[in-house]
Amino acid sequence: MSPTQFSTAVLDWYDRHGRKDLPWQQGISPYRVWVSEIMLQQTQVSTVLGYFDRFMTALPSVQALAEAPEDEVLHLWTGLGYYTRARNLQKTARIVMAEHGGEFPRDVEALTALPGIGRSTAGAIASLSMGLRAPILDGNVKRVLARYVAQEGYPGEPQVARQLWALAERLTPEQRVNHYTQAMMDLGATLCTRSKPSCLLCPLQSGCQAHSLGLEIRYPVAKPRKTLPQKRTLMPILANSAGEILLYRRPSSGLWGGLWSLPELDRLEALEPLAQRHALHLGERQTLAELTHTFSHFQLAIEPWLIRVEGAAGAVAEADWLWYNLATPPRLGLAAPVKKLLKRAADALNAGPTTGE
Ligand code: SF4
Repeated sequence: MSPTQFSTAVLDWYDRHGRKDLPWQQGISPYRVWVSEIMLQQTQVSTVLGYFDRFMTALPSVQALAEAPEDEVLHLWTGLGYYTRARNLQKTARIVMAEHGGEFPRDVEALTALPGIGRSTAGAIASLSMGLRAPILDGNVKRVLARYVAQEGYPGEPQVARQLWALAERLTPEQRVNHYTQAMMDLGATLCTRSKPSCLLCPLQSGCQAHSLGLEIRYPVAKPRKTLPQKRTLMPILANSAGEILLYRRPSSGLWGGLWSLPELDRLEALEPLAQRHALHLGERQTLAELTHTFSHFQLAIEPWLIRVEGAAGAVAEADWLWYNLATPPRLGLAAPVKKLLKRAADALNAGPTTGE
């Protein structure tokens, strides 16, 4: 297929089958497209739907996002993971307000200069909300194109990425670039899926090399495997008689930066200094089921201990510590495993005291 035949086939398919009712396709603006693209980076559409609506209701404009407290933004993001995305979102909103008069720049290069906006996201914002001819190469589009040309090599390798970008650039049409971009993302999400592509329904079937070879699943070529290092930590869930749990806010840089978390200890004996620091008397202890959380570069095994304490409720003297009320939780950004552990703690506390240790 020539580039024109390719884009015509994609656009015809879009007219008949493309998604046109997603919330960020209504009242299209760079702000709405940008937030949706950032949410969709690591998360499926079905999950993003609820988050997007809540986010837009709470923070309907780039100005509202720029002016919101960081805790509010992280709270709206809780459960989506990859919190750097949320922090970058706010950094970018502040730059757009301070340096671009509240308007997103109409230029891919200037967009990629903003925190958290890579080349593909910039292309999506430019094409979907501004109608500029700009290619994209997100995970879905990468899969379609890698299969279409049976691209050898892992797309994370720079020279393979360069080839795919050059292909994306060649195939992107001058007209209806917004529909083309949406269609390519939809094709990848709905037809050219990871494990079961629906080639018989695909408008690119006649030109697709992976399909003609019967090797669809082989592309894109997988990343060479390596096993992740393992780490362990112990998390005490200190629960007072008011049903509150002691949390602290992590430093803004690093793992779970700026999110509220349970304290971490390397061994249970280290609990005593923590209790002294907050003037707590340690009571009954109970182990909860271990939790494993996988980060991009290591796996963390968390050993949670539910420990009843006496001696404190309500305020904590130090700014980065608080008592988190399980019955009326405050609006805070929580690390995902901490959210799970708080739920387990609430269940265990509701089940009443145990014989403990
Ligand atoms: S023919 Fe199959 S493998 Fe090729 S692009 Fe279409 S769905 Fe993907």
